[in-house]
Amino acid sequence: MTTPDLIIFDNDGVLVDSERLSNRIFAALLTEAGLPTSFDDAVDRYMGRRSSDCVVDIEAQLGRSLPADFLHRYEHECASVISTELTTVDGVTDLLDALDDNKIPYCIASSGTPDEIALRLRTTGLTDRFGDRVYSGSMVARGKPAPDLFEYAAERMGFSPESAVVIEDSPAGVTGAKAAGAHVIGHADLVDPQRLVDAGAHVVVSGMGQVRSLLSI
Ligand SMILES: [Mg+2]
Repeated sequence: MTTPDLIIFDNDGVLVDSERLSNRIFAALLTEAGLPTSFDDAVDRYMGRRSSDCVVDIEAQLGRSLPADFLHRYEHECASVISTELTTVDGVTDLLDALDDNKIPYCIASSGTPDEIALRLRTTGLTDRFGDRVYSGSMVARGKPAPDLFEYAAERMGFSPESAVVIEDSPAGVTGAKAAGAHVIGHADLVDPQRLVDAGAHVVVSGMGQVRSLLSI
């Protein structure tokens, strides 16, 4: 792989190890709301998408509205766990150091809200690494798996999506990044590697150390 102009990181499951925590809570709240959902179901169907898009999907399955405070409760319960238990994904700090050393710009494109992203970065000490180079699904019309957020992030960073590498852990994110024209590295953690390949990942890794090797940095 030639050295890219830009690295676009997904946040949850790529930079920070939040998906185990948030999908556990999401599955429990959905089950309580009348849609029996296991942890694996939650990962399979909702991971990587905006919460607001998930609600539309869930309400269609239920045939009725979720309680008005559903997303507020989810965000509140996630925040209390994430603010105490969240860690970075192994190898992230070394990868960011290597990108800095090689003067390769990088940013975040996350389906989370700006508040959710900020909490995760603050808890794991990554805030200053990204500064204002943080782009949220709330900033674009269509969330992942649409390409909008990746196109927006690349444009704001001054590059074309085609010259960027995107690192994603969800099929929704991989699909969106591929549709934007980026080169996609899949991070297989909670999802089977083949699903990321099927969604369009050019290569799949199981850890951030392998990303350094791929980028030759
Ligand atoms: Mg993710």
